[in-house]
Amino acid sequence: MALKLAKPTSLGGRIVLATLVFCLLFTLVVAVVRTWSAWQNNVARMSGEMALIAQVYQQTLSKSIWEMDRDSLQTYLNSIANAASVGQVVLTLQSTSHTPEVFRRAREGWLPSTLAPVLNRPLDYQLFAGSKEVVGALALYGDERVLWARLRSEVAKIVATQIAQSLLLAILIMLLLNRLVTVHVRRIAQHLGQLTPANLRQLLTLDRNTSRQDELSQLVGGVNQLQTTLSDYLEQRQRDEIELLAHRDNLAELVRERTAALETANSKLEDTNTRLDSLARTDPLTGLANRRQFDEMKEIEFRRALRTGHPLTLLVCDIDSFKRYNDTYGHASGDQCLRSVATALGAGSARAGDLLARIGGEEFAVLLPATDATQGTLLAAHLLRAVADLGIAHRNSEAAPVVTISIGLAQLDARQVDKFDTLFDQADKALYQAKHTGRNRVVVHGQALA
Ligand code: GH3
Ligand code: MG
Ligand code: MG
Repeated sequence: MALKLAKPTSLGGRIVLATLVFCLLFTLVVAVVRTWSAWQNNVARMSGEMALIAQVYQQTLSKSIWEMDRDSLQTYLNSIANAASVGQVVLTLQSTSHTPEVFRRAREGWLPSTLAPVLNRPLDYQLFAGSKEVVGALALYGDERVLWARLRSEVAKIVATQIAQSLLLAILIMLLLNRLVTVHVRRIAQHLGQLTPANLRQLLTLDRNTSRQDELSQLVGGVNQLQTTLSDYLEQRQRDEIELLAHRDNLAELVRERTAALETANSKLEDTNTRLDSLARTDPLTGLANRRQFDEMKEIEFRRALRTGHPLTLLVCDIDSFKRYNDTYGHASGDQCLRSVATALGAGSARAGDLLARIGGEEFAVLLPATDATQGTLLAAHLLRAVADLGIAHRNSEAAPVVTISIGLAQLDARQVDKFDTLFDQADKALYQAKHTGRNRVVVHGQALA
């Protein structure tokens, strides 16, 4: 049961990348905010510095103006102009008589700016306590370049710290994710990939604190539950299949037994049928074909003769004075006599295709396919002799001292005869004639009697 996994990519890597992108955006926003804040601080700091300078120099400048000490003024102005945050210093001397005198000191390359702060301070001199004389004004112009320079170094620090923070955060997340999640997820994927129906009972375990109940332990529980259920199901199915196979074998065995029994019963039935059929067509006393079989065969041979044009000859034989034989020797002897005559007739007409049947009490018929009257007459004479040659004594016979038979013979004439019974009648008539002309002889239908 191999799990088809998509092309593996690191989940931790993607999360770290997303964290980095987020941190960079966050850094950007934070840097902007902090830069703006740093600018404000710098401006305030510059204002503070300029206020401090003004406060430091206010007294000395006022005094120098009052005392008209121009050298000192120049020195003070130069030293103010050298202060880091000051771009330009302007000192205006108040005069009531003429236009105010203005002193300027600007740092090299300084340009007027709207961003840098400007500080204006009136200069007054206190000649004695309670008096206040305005002697001039001091204007300090902040140097914008200083602001920018300070901001640059601050921004560099801000960006550096933010980037370091982001990287550390990303590394921390990656380490945590790897330790807490990725390793175990890989182990689960490996476990699932190696699962087969044979090792379903080997449950998933992770190398971690088992008391921790979090999403991973839920996942492990779910996988193990699934494995157990699947394994139970497969075992049940295997048991069912074995049972089914056993049932099927039993069923097949049962079917075989029943089929064999049925076949045996069928063959017995067939044997019985054959025997019954044979019994139904056999004369029980003599074992010869009976009337029924004769009637079936006569039609077949009659139609065949008509179809093929071959001759067909019928002999009708009758034991002479048989009533008297019974009367003289008893019925049992009569039966025995019948059997002996039947055997003699059977031996004499043994040609394949000939049919000898007992068709009545002491009457027999011999159906001779492909035999004409001449051949039939020869056979009839032979039969006549065969019976007489048995030598069964018959003292009350009207024909001879032994049992004899009379035979009527008819050959089929297809031009005149359209049904077998006609042929039979012709043979029967010939027999009748044989009886009335002394018995123990053959009479051929349609032939002048000798
Ligand atoms: P004919 O020479 O004119 O044929 O005279 P017949 O006595 O042979 O002829 P009839 O028809 O008068 O008598 C036939 C006798 O055959 C009557 C009957 O008792 C006897 N018979 C018929 N079937 C059987 C049989 O199965 N067993 C015995 N023992 N006798 C039979
Ligand atoms: Mg008879
Ligand atoms: Mg008779």
